[in-house]
Amino acid sequence: MTRLLIAGPPGSGKGTQAHRLSEKLGIPEISTGDMFRSHLSDQTPLGNQAKKYLDAGDLVPDHITTAMVRERLQQDDTGNGFLLDGYPRTLSQMENLDGILESSGKTLDAVLEVTADDDEIVRRLLLRSRAEGRSDDTESVIRHRLQLYREETQPVIARYGRRGILVSVDGTADVDHVTASALKGIETVKARTAT
Ligand code: AMP
Repeated sequence: MTRLLIAGPPGSGKGTQAHRLSEKLGIPEISTGDMFRSHLSDQTPLGNQAKKYLDAGDLVPDHITTAMVRERLQQDDTGNGFLLDGYPRTLSQMENLDGILESSGKTLDAVLEVTADDDEIVRRLLLRSRAEGRSDDTESVIRHRLQLYREETQPVIARYGRRGILVSVDGTADVDHVTASALKGIETVKARTAT
């Protein structure tokens, strides 16, 4: 049983690590970005509401995002834990998540932060944009998403740090090495908080 959260700037390799960790730990990956993208391509009402925010690299308003996460965390496959990817991204989302978990008597075991410097991020995302054609991977949108990450999400990570459940790994290292360090860090935090 592991309840995990993964955070990191766009292009840090967070998505790749999220896939690998969810597979290795046998827990579902809940990526708010993927959920929004799938609503967008299915042209659901939620997708239509979220489109302009995704295209601009802006955060989708909390009431939409948190309702989507709350509903997802109620599904049966999260009984054995989960890996939340890309949520919470703001302090108010963090408070909402605390409330959602508290109401079902749950807590997070660990928060994994995947780090990378800005130039490496921009380089990787421009490459990804050519490969995948994501509308939010132009250089100005990338820089905007990075700024939002610094302003809105880093305070969230710092607060988890103060709770003593944060594990930071360097996302620019070899991909297997990042996964191994992450797994080791998560186990260390779990062992420490279990005592
Ligand atoms: P990601 O793939 O995690 O970078 O997310 C892609 C886009 O989805 C973001 O730029 C936001 O527009 C939206 N999004 C994903 N997660 C959140 C969140 N927790 N709060 C608000 N918007 C989000």
